[in-house]
Amino acid sequence: MKTAAPLSRRRFVTSAVAAGAGALALRTFALPAADRALSEVSFLVITDTHLGYQDKDAAEKQWLKTAAELARAPGAFVLHLGDVVDGGREPQYARYLEGRKLIGKTVHEIPGNHDPQELFERHLRKDVNLAFEHEWLRVLLINNSRTESHDGFITPEQLAWLGAQCALAAKAEQRLLFAMHVPVHTNAAPDRGWYVKPAHGQREFYALLEKHATRTIALFHGHFHNGLRGWDDRAPVHEISFPSALYNLDRKLAAKPAPGYNLPEFRPGFTRVRIRDGVLELAYQPVGTAEPATKQLSLKPV
Ligand SMILES: [Zn+2]
Repeated sequence: MKTAAPLSRRRFVTSAVAAGAGALALRTFALPAADRALSEVSFLVITDTHLGYQDKDAAEKQWLKTAAELARAPGAFVLHLGDVVDGGREPQYARYLEGRKLIGKTVHEIPGNHDPQELFERHLRKDVNLAFEHEWLRVLLINNSRTESHDGFITPEQLAWLGAQCALAAKAEQRLLFAMHVPVHTNAAPDRGWYVKPAHGQREFYALLEKHATRTIALFHGHFHNGLRGWDDRAPVHEISFPSALYNLDRKLAAKPAPGYNLPEFRPGFTRVRIRDGVLELAYQPVGTAEPATKQLSLKPV
């Protein structure tokens, strides 16, 4: 329905009721966007391709196989959560880009600790910070890794940028998804122990997240090579480290006192993400196999 004159939301609802409009119109227009039923959004996630690993071409071959499957998989776009190449091997970026061409979808990368920011900016994207919108979702990508450390770092400048982006999302009534290579979530032994330590921005990031928790869907990370590993103690916000497209290790976390979850699948693969009303569905697809390992997570009820 189009109206020539601006109409307040309440007046519009009233007139919609008067016009005998159905429940759908009421639901769509009476509630703030953040509380609306979400239309389904689906996309693909890859991470830790490590091209040039051990100076062999196995990683490149695996990447080409993965790219061919990503081309066939349904999804509006692809997120690559870092460690595109291994050990900053610059010639590998061109090989990565050759594989990326096969996908036929937009791929948004972030650097990992193996991707010096200077090389990432030269070969993949000049501005590392990236915000993009897809339907009702605003995706925020930053580089929280450093080549000299396995830990994550979120600087005051990055926090300011994220804060401004969150404010834009609030204004536009969008949901938020954060992508950064290193998990923010504390993960002591038996886990990796690699995260954004309190002295390196963890406290400040979580303070920002707290303010936007109701509109945040998840924090997406790579870095761990532990298959699909996640934590939901900040539910409904989910914190997830995605499976590497090159290799994953089974740290037997399910049998140990480690919080969160770890799917029993460790082959190289990618993940199909579907977000629909109240559900975040992750389907971890090992490359070259038919059956994904899936995990369903609850989102804030709407
Ligand atoms: Zn890494």
